[in-house]
Amino acid sequence: MTNCPQCQSDNTSSYRMLWMSGTASGNVSGTGITANGQIGFIGGTSSQQTYLAQSVAPPAAPPLRGFLFGCLVPFIVCLVLTTMLSALMTMLRLGSPALAKVLAPMLSNFSFFWLAILCIAGSLVLRNVYLQVRKQKLAPALQAWENSWLCLKCGVRWVV
Ligand SMILES: [Zn+2]
Repeated sequence: MTNCPQCQSDNTSSYRMLWMSGTASGNVSGTGITANGQIGFIGGTSSQQTYLAQSVAPPAAPPLRGFLFGCLVPFIVCLVLTTMLSALMTMLRLGSPALAKVLAPMLSNFSFFWLAILCIAGSLVLRNVYLQVRKQKLAPALQAWENSWLCLKCGVRWVV
């Protein structure tokens, strides 16, 4: 137990303890006041959380960014590339049938299949790199969160 640096009260709690006690659904400790002034739980995205638990939630990177970077962007790149190659092939067939015949085996639909496989593999690698970087960037914030405390008497928050 750590004493409050402002009022010296020993009625303090770590963010982790507050967050865990207020996050599990059915747990009534640390009940908050909802937007319309009622006392009770308010719904979170995946689990029920009290306002107190929400205010001491651990830092998290927005999941949408990871999705965009890891899946959507490589998918769009793959789509654009295959469309471009397809268009190139059509232009070649119209403009220079002889050259198209030479390049056909390389730019066939079979090649597009392998390109798609390559893009998917690439997106998985990119996604892992992104997750690793995100984890490293998040580490200091998580460390600070682990050391954060709240005084339940005067409401002061501090990092030990
Ligand atoms: Zn205090």
